[in-house]
Amino acid sequence: MGARIEQVEVRVFATLDWTTKDSDGHTHPGPERRAEHALLTVRDGDGAEGHCLCSGEALRPSVLDGFVRKVVIGEDPFMRERVWNRLYRMQRGSGGQLTDRAIGYLDQALWDLAGRKLGAPVWQLLGGARSTVPAYASTMCGDDIEGGLRTPEDYGRFAEALVATGYSAVKLHTWMPPVPGAPDPDMDARACAAVREAVGPDVPLMLDANHWYTRTQALALGRALQQLDYYWYEEPMEEASTSSYRWLAEQLEIPVIGPETAFGRVHTRAEWIAQGACDIVRVGVNDTGGITPAMKIVHLADAFNMDAEVHGGGSGNLAILGAMENGRWYERGLLHPHFDYDAVPPHLNSAVDPIDEHGNVQMPEAPGLGDDLCFEHIEENIVARW
Ligand code: MG
Repeated sequence: MGARIEQVEVRVFATLDWTTKDSDGHTHPGPERRAEHALLTVRDGDGAEGHCLCSGEALRPSVLDGFVRKVVIGEDPFMRERVWNRLYRMQRGSGGQLTDRAIGYLDQALWDLAGRKLGAPVWQLLGGARSTVPAYASTMCGDDIEGGLRTPEDYGRFAEALVATGYSAVKLHTWMPPVPGAPDPDMDARACAAVREAVGPDVPLMLDANHWYTRTQALALGRALQQLDYYWYEEPMEEASTSSYRWLAEQLEIPVIGPETAFGRVHTRAEWIAQGACDIVRVGVNDTGGITPAMKIVHLADAFNMDAEVHGGGSGNLAILGAMENGRWYERGLLHPHFDYDAVPPHLNSAVDPIDEHGNVQMPEAPGLGDDLCFEHIEENIVARW
């Protein structure tokens, strides 16, 4: 019997951020501002620690006390599958309090602890498949900013610059409310055409459109993307309607990817595959409840000869990419002409996902998830802890 988990703690701390959110929650570049982030830490009786950068709100005191601590205090930190399943079953009766995000942060912290304790990076503990992965550039949503992402030509110029810095593929997020006139599938298609024109025929391109188009709007836009030889078509409609995606995928040649944010983890993805609603599966540690369930989705896709493309960046998503072959890219972003993605906030000593001149991200070599946390800054800037 190994050491048992003795402590689970959330620390909320002040740091710096250079983004802002619009009224619908989309990220745009912004002036430097003070921001609050949070770190989840799990400690065992040997003093081993695992950490995960998290949303403090998802792991507010009532969630930690009501669910997480009840399951993990006194538990062996290496019993991740048991911990995950116990929390998963508590979720149903939690009245929406215990979210997939919350379970996912804990799962990532346990993987980090295991890696740190065993002296190995998580991507190797999961079953190392590659030590480097190509990155695609993922843009912010369209906006109304001068020299930003206001016009199709703005997207074209920006995509050209991204390819010049090494990115091997580019994904657009186009205009969403509250931008005036958005959403508009014709405007989306014009932006996609401008980007194809700018980067030439050989660069894989993807579109993540407005998520609430009707079937006919989504079909028309998909046909436009086919003409432009786009590589995948992401989330143009409400994902809860699997039938709509089957209807769309049946009529399009371009691969349809999904689901991304639909609830239900591996079960929902299995249904989408069984119904022919997607050609590429979407998976992400923050959407599906952590690394443990994300790997089940990766293997599910593999069993159907399908790629699973990873949603979003960060150390947890990088870890699963290092442990799979059936996914092409790391999603690096969100990027914008007025935003320096490579600026390192003061709670980190270095970023986990620097890109090299070939457009690749190296898997971290440090034990655990590989986040290079500046504990000195975190401890000196504590806002709250529980
Ligand atoms: Mg998406």
